[in-house]
Amino acid sequence: MADVVIIGGGITGLLSAHYLAAEGAVVTLVERGECFREASWAGGGILAPMHPWRYADSINELVFESESLYPALCEQLQEKTGIDCELQVSGMLQLALAPEDEILARQWCERRSRVCEVLDQAQLQNLNILSTQFSHALLMPETQQIRNPRLGKALLAALQTNPAVTLHTQTEVNVIETEPLRVVTDHGVVSAGKVLVCAGAWTSRLIAEYSSLQIKPVKGEMLLLKAEPGLLPYMLMCHGRYMIPRADGHILVGSTQQDSGFDKTLNVETAQLLQQHAQDVVPALEGAPVVRHWSGLRPATNDELPFVGSLPDRPDIYVCGGHFRNGLAMGPASALRIARQIVAS
Ligand SMILES: Cc1cc2nc3c(=O)[nH]c(=O)nc-3n(C[C@H](O)[C@H](O)[C@H](O)COP(=O)(O)OP(=O)(O)OC[C@H]3O[C@@H](n4cnc5c(N)ncnc54)[C@H](O)[C@@H]3O)c2cc1C
Repeated sequence: MADVVIIGGGITGLLSAHYLAAEGAVVTLVERGECFREASWAGGGILAPMHPWRYADSINELVFESESLYPALCEQLQEKTGIDCELQVSGMLQLALAPEDEILARQWCERRSRVCEVLDQAQLQNLNILSTQFSHALLMPETQQIRNPRLGKALLAALQTNPAVTLHTQTEVNVIETEPLRVVTDHGVVSAGKVLVCAGAWTSRLIAEYSSLQIKPVKGEMLLLKAEPGLLPYMLMCHGRYMIPRADGHILVGSTQQDSGFDKTLNVETAQLLQQHAQDVVPALEGAPVVRHWSGLRPATNDELPFVGSLPDRPDIYVCGGHFRNGLAMGPASALRIARQIVAS
């Protein structure tokens, strides 16, 4: 019997398995499809909230803690698997902030000792990429990004050779039973000392019998363009949309936020809107080839705060989820916290 059975193989489940095994636990992870193919693959990989000053301190604490965990994690994964997760400090240029928002952003940076520089119109034009509409912008040069699909591949490869971890993919958990504690899957039953639910937007279905915690799906669509490597010197944020430059010239343009249940249908108009946004901000992207368009379901709690802990009425069932728009940014710290809680209990 495993010490812990984890349900779900997104970033939250895989990192929890990684840290639980590091803490000495024997883990079985059960994933309905392939690991890291839902929200964790679909996400952009910005390792900070889009506008961090608008977020609760508890979220920023998890982000900062994760920021300090990522370099060692990526190094360890590269050593073990040879896969480079492309963790980069690429900085975030915040364009067209409303004046009151800009004041809040600057106050937040000061309070949090984060670097924040004002670039004036001449400095912006010297970048030679932006349209002429911007009078100034805030540069947050410390913001990191990661190539999340690569992180998924690296984590999976590392866990596959970890003797403390057993992975069952293409195996759906139908129900969690108690007395004795076990998960019932479409391929049989897995007994558990403890159960950790990391099922993203599908979490509520699994715990409904034991908790009223609600985690609902919120769709986001993303567009991938191809440009010359190095075209964008920073990640760009403008009017709630972002562009993320990858090292090889791919640029992710995102995103949307739609309450449409578990429907992941792609919308052609959304792709056109994202493409138009990209070329309005960076005119050189006019005509840039569209490589791919996709959507994913973010897991959101009612108060948009993640839940990391055991269920109040079931101390042997844990949930790590509800990370909404920031699950990659909060991933390592959330997983490390839940792993330590489980091992200590
Ligand atoms: C378009 C978009 C852009 C985003 N951009 C960013 C960003 O830039 N930065 C950032 O920090 N975050 C971003 N996010 C949010 C981030 O991707 C999520 O918060 C995070 O991936 C959630 O991870 P998770 O492991 O909880 O869920 P998921 O990745 O969805 O994983 C849950 C897993 O559980 C499995 N599962 C579900 N039910 C069962 C069951 N019954 N049995 C077995 N397995 C089951 C699923 O198949 C899935 O693999 C973005 C999300 C989207 C959609």
